[in-house]
Amino acid sequence: MRFNAELFLQNAAKLQKEITEKQIERFDKLAGMLIDKNKVLNLTAITDPDGIAVKHFADSVSVTAAADIKAGIKVIDIGTGAGFPGIPLLIMSPDINLTLLDSTNKKLNYVNDAVNALGLKARVVHGRAEEIAAKHSEREQYDYAVSRAVASLGTLCEYCLPFVKVGGKFIAMKSEKTEEEVTAAANAIKTLGGELELIKDIELTDGATRKLVIIKKVAPTPAKYPRPFAQIAKQPL
Ligand code: SAH
Repeated sequence: MRFNAELFLQNAAKLQKEITEKQIERFDKLAGMLIDKNKVLNLTAITDPDGIAVKHFADSVSVTAAADIKAGIKVIDIGTGAGFPGIPLLIMSPDINLTLLDSTNKKLNYVNDAVNALGLKARVVHGRAEEIAAKHSEREQYDYAVSRAVASLGTLCEYCLPFVKVGGKFIAMKSEKTEEEVTAAANAIKTLGGELELIKDIELTDGATRKLVIIKKVAPTPAKYPRPFAQIAKQPL
């Protein structure tokens, strides 16, 4: 095993998730591909068996504490990088309709290869979130947008909320200072058609602070958002 399966199972139990043999097999294969590819492409600083089990796999699966990730549900992972949280969510629920988006093509090529090697299906989209979200065909199409370690919450809302259907949710995976980020993002959330539903604490065995910020889409995002990156950076909502 290239990851600590026992530790992963302990954390999955904390999340009230049952894991099948087939899923463990896929997680192990994914760990192997991540470790191997990381030698030639900088994907992650975490490659030890415990770290992969908790900080990549269980952490990704924790999204299911906030989202009903079931067959047919449309999910987009914004800034997926090496495929987190998207690929573990797909291993958990192979019948979701998953889109993995990132602005770095090299990472996306790896992600696409990894999904195929696992015998799973996902769509990969190369581009900047704020540019892709401006396209009519991508706007308000998704039940869930999820994102980990991409930007501060206000910026992230402008990247992610335009993709979410009214009635859907954006789930941001955060850690320290989440409450401060949520306060700072209050105007962005409202302006973009969102409403804070809940900040949910997630506890895993490594003791790190983990919070899921769950934002419900309650109104369409006005057409002028998302703005070009330069504007998002210069004049945060
Ligand atoms: N979610 C992954 C990767 C985090 S690194 C994880 O938690 O492990 C941040 C990733 O976001 C990088 O791969 C970067 O290319 C991507 N990214 C940053 N800004 C982006 C944007 N505006 N649109 C799309 N991808 C973006």
